[in-house]
Amino acid sequence: MNRDTELARGGLPPLDRATIHPFDDATPGPFFYQRMAHPVGAEAERLLGELEGGHALLFSSGAGATTALLLAMLKPGSTVAVAGGGYYGTVALMHELSRWGIEVEEFDQTGEPPVADLVWFEPCSNPILTFPDLDVAIGQAHAAGAVVVVDNTVLSPVLLRPLEYGADFVLHSATKILAGHHDALIGVVTCARAEDHARLHAFRTVSGIVAAPDPAWLMLRGMKTLALRVPRQSATALELARRLETHPNVERVRYPGLGDPIAVRYVDAFGPLLSFDVADADSAARVERSLRLIENATSLGGVASTLEARERYEGTRVPPGLLRLSVGLEDVEDLWRDLAQALGN
Ligand code: PLP
Repeated sequence: MNRDTELARGGLPPLDRATIHPFDDATPGPFFYQRMAHPVGAEAERLLGELEGGHALLFSSGAGATTALLLAMLKPGSTVAVAGGGYYGTVALMHELSRWGIEVEEFDQTGEPPVADLVWFEPCSNPILTFPDLDVAIGQAHAAGAVVVVDNTVLSPVLLRPLEYGADFVLHSATKILAGHHDALIGVVTCARAEDHARLHAFRTVSGIVAAPDPAWLMLRGMKTLALRVPRQSATALELARRLETHPNVERVRYPGLGDPIAVRYVDAFGPLLSFDVADADSAARVERSLRLIENATSLGGVASTLEARERYEGTRVPPGLLRLSVGLEDVEDLWRDLAQALGN
């Protein structure tokens, strides 16, 4: 079935919040206790699994999904290589795990990954926007014996399906573009193999890092319009990136759609996220304060555009003048007018 039809067809399931479902003839059904599974989550997992070509599992958030995946796959002494310049929370979590004997190395995902037990890629990395040569890099990681995870939060399965390039796991902060409306905190791991899915499901059950029915329902509803939102957001982001490149107060624009020779081989649109550098942190703060339409807020992938200056956390290694813009569904001219007046000129 066509992907757009698969996403749109049928209605939404009722929002069943029951934590228990009665046994049938003294036999517990699949939804007998919500920590194991629930009907809304199962439908969201079915749909996402079909889109990605794997077996999906929901978690309490993207970070919850990352925690579960790492704890389920690693053991003391394991080594992890993570794309540098990607989501700081993932890197911070991995460094946190070093207290349990896990060794972490950050690497440049545009080159060959280092030898490790687990290699973590993030195409259109948030917020530096680098893109790995997935076919080659996943092959190299596998040849060295690694398990490969691709964080596909920024692009979504509408643009990229990393399992097709051999990834073992795909991770999403579904809080972002999958749910799409800045109103649900939720995460997903899609497994290439049924046995990994079974193992992770068992870990999810005992750890309790589960998604409740409400955010799962909102994610499912958001996914109904995913195939419309993503191309539109990508087209607007590309147009804004091109205009920003010519702005006198912008020193650099980071968006793979501006001609990244690797990205163009994998995707035909580049998602809602771009970042650009102004002179310094003060200039970046001035831009944030001057916005009238675009929200000065964190997160990405929602219907409303959001912009924030370099993430304000210890240990992030991004240039001080970096501004991260997530493009929503507003008219491109309105967005450009707001950016231009906030940048001055
Ligand atoms: N991965 C990426 C690329 C993200 O941008 C984020 C959140 O910002 C996460 C993972 C973590 O997701 P969550 O905020 O849903 O826990």
